[in-house]
Amino acid sequence: MCAKSPVDTLIETVVETGLCTRCGTCVGACPAGNLVIDDPAGSCLPSERGLCTSCGLCLSACPGASVDFAPLEKSHFGDAPSGRLLGVVRDAWLAHAAEAGTRRVGSSGGVVTQNQKQDLPFNLTITITNKGFTVAGSNGVMYENDVPGRLPTVPKNGRDYDLKRLQALLVKVKKEHPKELQAILSANSDTPYETIVSVMDVVRLGPTEEPLFPSIVFSAGIEY
Ligand code: SF4
Ligand code: SF4
Repeated sequence: MCAKSPVDTLIETVVETGLCTRCGTCVGACPAGNLVIDDPAGSCLPSERGLCTSCGLCLSACPGASVDFAPLEKSHFGDAPSGRLLGVVRDAWLAHAAEAGTRRVGSSGGVVTQNQKQDLPFNLTITITNKGFTVAGSNGVMYENDVPGRLPTVPKNGRDYDLKRLQALLVKVKKEHPKELQAILSANSDTPYETIVSVMDVVRLGPTEEPLFPSIVFSAGIEY
């Protein structure tokens, strides 16, 4: 009785048992060009072309031959995967970023972006315009009541700047970016000095004197 060839062992112990990850290593390792991945049905599994010289390189190079995934997954996850391509699924969650701006610009609901942003500077910018306050951050500009295109973010209340509403918005921003300390303040050069001071007060402290963004940087155009 002749011994089984290495490639037969590979096919039997890796491919036919579902351990093949379709990595293609055996195809690249085979000096005879015996192995190909050209299954028109799309299984992407290696198959032979009848040129094997029994050198054994495919079997020794195959990562699937040395890792027995079934008991490994059983011991780690307590279960076998329902499909080889997805692996074991422990739980499925539906989520999106809580921050409207991130949700709007991030892919797939912005969850990953939101998590990464916790450690990035938010670059809060408040611009005093003739119509009110335009507030922006690293997500882009914030619209009034999150309605896309509606600016300024905090319109004037009649002829007066709505400092209370700006403060409420900044409290919300602070909750989402608790580590952020800095705000960039921008205004036309003819903005009254008193207005700038009033805005600075609500940027620095919340309604109960809690610190919001104590470090204020003035952009070009503000003389203080
Ligand atoms: S020739 Fe060597 S590497 Fe190629 S299939 Fe045969 S045993 Fe594997
Ligand atoms: S090296 Fe192993 S796991 Fe990779 S394609 Fe070949 S048989 Fe599959």
